[in-house]
Amino acid sequence: MKLPGKRAVFLLYACALLLPVLAGSFREQAGASKMTAKTEAPARETGTGGGTVETGAGGRMAETDAGSKAEAQEDEKSRQVALTFDDGPSPDWTPKLLDGLKERNVRATFFLIGMYAVQYPEIVERMDREGHLIGNHTYHHVQLDLEDEEHLRREIGDTDKVIYLITGKHTDYVRPPFGVWDERLEEELQVLPVLWTVDPLDWTTENTDQIVEKVVTEAEDGDIILLHDCYESSVEAALRIVDILRDEGFAFVTADELVLP
Ligand SMILES: [Zn+2]
Repeated sequence: MKLPGKRAVFLLYACALLLPVLAGSFREQAGASKMTAKTEAPARETGTGGGTVETGAGGRMAETDAGSKAEAQEDEKSRQVALTFDDGPSPDWTPKLLDGLKERNVRATFFLIGMYAVQYPEIVERMDREGHLIGNHTYHHVQLDLEDEEHLRREIGDTDKVIYLITGKHTDYVRPPFGVWDERLEEELQVLPVLWTVDPLDWTTENTDQIVEKVVTEAEDGDIILLHDCYESSVEAALRIVDILRDEGFAFVTADELVLP
């Protein structure tokens, strides 16, 4: 999926984005009301990747154990999942989720809606500071194939500007709302779409047990789990999912580690 020359083209794109920002043309859109209805169609996209392996602390390893230790590490390395959260940041629930992830030393991926990111910059800044990956979920949560090209560019470009102004980092990854992606955007904007492989439909229920059960029974190596950090039940479920899957030997990585070769 990685495009050749991506970095160079991306830098050019970054410069092009930054100029209007410096010229003070940044448009702030305030007062937007929260969306209540969401329907995100399931999609499958599996990836492979390297990533981090937790290492045990202390203890001397006998040479004869080196082989089995290496095998154990290989097993652990091969069972990685990424927790991804769409539609935030939410002032009500995202900080609670960040607290729980920090306690557990887990990094996740947040696909932010631009109009909320601009309202809660302190939450976005905290996500970045605590090592989470921040991606782009458009400015107004639009279905990308329903808009004209110029509008599409603005939806992704304006969100990128907001996040860049807060974190100093551009968004290389886009979670297309409703899973609908236009490949022309990928070439033109030099961004990569990140879909998902496990979708517990958390936005349809307040039943935390149900969300947890669906994810932990389906999760396999390389899965990208879709949740939403704007619901209390989803946030509670996410932290329980971390505890259960960790006990089963899964490591949590950010989505870039699973989608890049
Ligand atoms: Zn969404």
